[in-house]
Amino acid sequence: MNSNESPRIELIDLLPEEIGGLPAFVDEQPYRARQVFSWIHDAKVRDFDGMTNLSLAMRTRLKETCSVFRRDPVQIQESVDGSKKLIFLTDEGFSYSAVLMPGLERNTLCISSQVGCRMNCAFCMTATLGFKRNLSAAEIVGQIHAAATLLVPPSRVSNVVFMGMGEPLDNYDNVLRAVRLATHREGLKVAPRRTTISTVGLIDRVAAFVNENTGASIAISLCATTDEARNRVVPQGRRFGIDDIVSGLAGIRLAHGHVFTIEYSLIKGVGDSPADARRLSAMAARFPSKINLIPFNPWPGCHFERPDDATIEAFREILERKHHTVTVRISRGQDIGAACGQLDGCKSTG
Ligand code: SF4
Repeated sequence: MNSNESPRIELIDLLPEEIGGLPAFVDEQPYRARQVFSWIHDAKVRDFDGMTNLSLAMRTRLKETCSVFRRDPVQIQESVDGSKKLIFLTDEGFSYSAVLMPGLERNTLCISSQVGCRMNCAFCMTATLGFKRNLSAAEIVGQIHAAATLLVPPSRVSNVVFMGMGEPLDNYDNVLRAVRLATHREGLKVAPRRTTISTVGLIDRVAAFVNENTGASIAISLCATTDEARNRVVPQGRRFGIDDIVSGLAGIRLAHGHVFTIEYSLIKGVGDSPADARRLSAMAARFPSKINLIPFNPWPGCHFERPDDATIEAFREILERKHHTVTVRISRGQDIGAACGQLDGCKSTG
C-alpha cells in the first residue's frame, strides 16, 4: 500500500448492515451487502473477483477500498482419535490454537479468544504463558473459517465452544461480535445454542452477555465447591466467590428451554470428594443447569492429578441420584496437547 492511500476496510468482522453502510455501497440495494457477507462467510471467498453476482464496477470498488482477512494455520497436528489442532500465528508472531473434533453427528470446534490468559488458573497450561493480547473478532472467526475448509461439504462446523486459550468474557466486545458473525443465518450458520461461551466465573459479564440475546449457551467453569479450595487454584475466585456466582446465575432469566452448563473440573484432592458432589448438587439446583464433569488432563510440569475412575464414578452417581443431568467429558486430542486445559499455543511452535 502506498503511504498516501487509506488503509483498506476489513470486511470479515462486519455484519451485513455494517457492510451496507460503507462508502463502496452508496446507491446500492441493501441485498448487495448481504451477498458480500454471504460470499465471505458462507462460500468462504476471499477474492472479490470470485463474487460473481456483483457487477464489475462493484468488485473494482471493493478491491480498491476493502480486504478480506485470511489466516491459514501454520501447522495442523492430527491426533490418533481424529481430532486436529490448528496452530495460527498473529502478525507479531504469537501463536494460538483451535481444536477440531469431527464426529458422526457433529463437528465441534474449540476456539481461542485470547493469546494467553490473565486469569492464572493454577491447573491450566495456558496460564503459564501469561497474557499477550486479545484476539480480534476477525482472528476468532478466522479459526472457524480455517477449520471449515478441513471438512468435506456438506459436513461443516456445527458446534463452536469458546474453551480454548483465554477467558472469552475478558475479551467481551470481540467475542460478542464473533458470536454474532458465527451464528448469522447468511454466513457460517452455527446454531446459537450450539455456540458455547465458557467462563471461569466473571458473573457480571455473564449477566450482560445473556442480555445481548445472542442465544449462545453459557458454561461456568468450576473446580471446587468451597471458596477456600477454589481460591487455591482460581485466583479470580477472590473477585467472585462461589456464592456470588450461584446467586448471580439464579438471578438471570434465561430464554425458554435454555440452561447453564456447569463445567466441573475434577482434580484429585481439590474438589472431588462426595461432600463436594453434594455441595455441587445444592448449587446446581438453584438455577436451570446441566453438569459436565471434566476429569483433569495432566500436562508436563503440573503437580495436579486426575482422580481415579472410581472417584469419578462415585461423584457422578451422587449427582445422578439427585436427578441432575450429568455427562463425563472424554477429552480428545491428548496425544497432541489439544485436550481441555492443555492448549499451549505459544509453546507449540516456539
Ligand atoms: S482455565 Fe481458562 S480462564 Fe483459567 S487460565 Fe486457563 S484459559 Fe484462562
